[in-house]
Amino acid sequence: MNRLAAWLKQASSAVVFTGAGMSTESGLPDFRSSLQGIWKGKDPIQFASTHALYHNRDVFADFYRMRVEGLIRCQPHQGHEILAQWEQAGLLTGIITQNVDGFHQQAGSRRVAELHGSLRSITCMVCGSTYPSERYLQPNGTTCQCGGFLRPCVVLFGESLPEAALVEAEELTQCADLFIVLGSSLQVSPANWFPQLAKEHGAKLVIVNMEPTELDDLADLVINGEKIGSVLQQIQCDL
Ligand code: NAD
Repeated sequence: MNRLAAWLKQASSAVVFTGAGMSTESGLPDFRSSLQGIWKGKDPIQFASTHALYHNRDVFADFYRMRVEGLIRCQPHQGHEILAQWEQAGLLTGIITQNVDGFHQQAGSRRVAELHGSLRSITCMVCGSTYPSERYLQPNGTTCQCGGFLRPCVVLFGESLPEAALVEAEELTQCADLFIVLGSSLQVSPANWFPQLAKEHGAKLVIVNMEPTELDDLADLVINGEKIGSVLQQIQCDL
């Protein structure tokens, strides 16, 4: 932990890359934890894919209603706030996130590349109107005023990542001399390409994750078995 605090102070451009494990301490489940991930015993294609959107719409809508309820129930935690403070203090250049919950921005982070879109809004597949995602929880909330189906503004299995977020993430990664992964199994591509790109460009790579990941061998420092919130608080004390 001392080492990471020292690297953060020395870095000229530190970048954080977050996954669903960043938000479990807020109360949102992750996807692939061995004990309680959302996908445990489930096939993601049945719920969160373009196939589900077109051919299994009731199941799709129920799944995203459940996710939107989670957003309303939960808040960013102290770890999200610490990252926002680091950006304000000039210790962190930006955040690349796979999360769709918007907690980084809610906690005050400004430069955030959302690789998988945002669950904060929904958009009409016919006229393109957008609404806050809370609408999903209202009666008939999946239907636009024009009659079209409203879908969440997230990237589904079978879709490409948004161009603007990809460009932003690539720019952050190529300039980073310290790249810190927080709470990702690093199993989802192309998102898991960024830690590898950072390493290729000479950054120190740090992976903080409850369980081991496939990229641990590439990392300069791996912290397993500790909660992100407590790791960030310890680093904050060492700064
Ligand atoms: P993942 O579920 O594959 O991996 C999360 C990892 O975080 C796990 O390996 C787990 O051991 C670790 N973890 C969980 N809680 C932790 C904690 N408190 N401290 C340290 N580590 C912890 O998630 P991923 O790699 O982000 O997978 C990508 C997909 O997950 C994306 O498609 C993303 O959109 C989606 N997702 C997002 C949210 C969200 O927005 N909050 C929630 C669920 C899934």
